[in-house]
Amino acid sequence: MADERVNSIRIEHQALELLDRYAISGPGFDIEDLAAAEGLLVRRGGLKNIEAWLIRHANGTGTIRIRDDDAEEGRIRFSIGHEIGHWRLHPTLSQGFLCTAADLVDYTRSTEEIEANLFAASLLVPRTWVPDAVWRVDPDFELISKLAKDFRITLTAATRRYTELAKHPVLMVFSKAGKIEWTLKSQRARSLYIERATTLPIGSLSRECWEQKRTGKLEQVDAAAWFPDRDFGRDFEVFEDTRVSQRYGSALTLLWVPGYA
Ligand SMILES: [Zn+2]
Repeated sequence: MADERVNSIRIEHQALELLDRYAISGPGFDIEDLAAAEGLLVRRGGLKNIEAWLIRHANGTGTIRIRDDDAEEGRIRFSIGHEIGHWRLHPTLSQGFLCTAADLVDYTRSTEEIEANLFAASLLVPRTWVPDAVWRVDPDFELISKLAKDFRITLTAATRRYTELAKHPVLMVFSKAGKIEWTLKSQRARSLYIERATTLPIGSLSRECWEQKRTGKLEQVDAAAWFPDRDFGRDFEVFEDTRVSQRYGSALTLLWVPGYA
């Protein structure tokens, strides 16, 4: 989360403070209850082109409205966490926030959206709640799917949070219709680079799985497929895992370069 406009320590701290205030101490808590305790009523439906909004009322309460044509629980919980983020972090900025699906994955354009997303991630998955055992096993989607289930979040949100906090050198790649939209790197992988707006590389597991509409399993791939400009020699190996979502026409890729950095 290397964006100089955002103080990520402050935001993580504010999320933890809120959990503390209501003595919430474990994964998968009822986030609508938390919103209600903050004076926020969650309503569903009536939205078409936006994913969620927040309105502040003059009496100090607020309303969060969530688009209801999407029943995926993890997505709804993240949206609510995101709007609670605007509520806590941006009280004087605006009386309302309209957040699109793009805003809910925005980590580059708008400071407020980046902050609300980081707040939601920190609220749903505080770093201290991730068991140490998670860092002792190989990074793959089997592990991350389990995290997603335990924390009741989407696989995308779980992969993001895993990558943000990872002690391994890992990269996350989000692609839509076979084209790379954005990437995220763990601290130890920060000097590795993958170009955006290009198609999934030939020779990658993700390209193969995307074309065949199937799920991958962690396997070693040719490093040159993902990092053509980088000569790893024999020192590093690249492992790849992928999950294809037919529903959203997207794919998640996890790349792991053991021993790097
Ligand atoms: Zn927003």
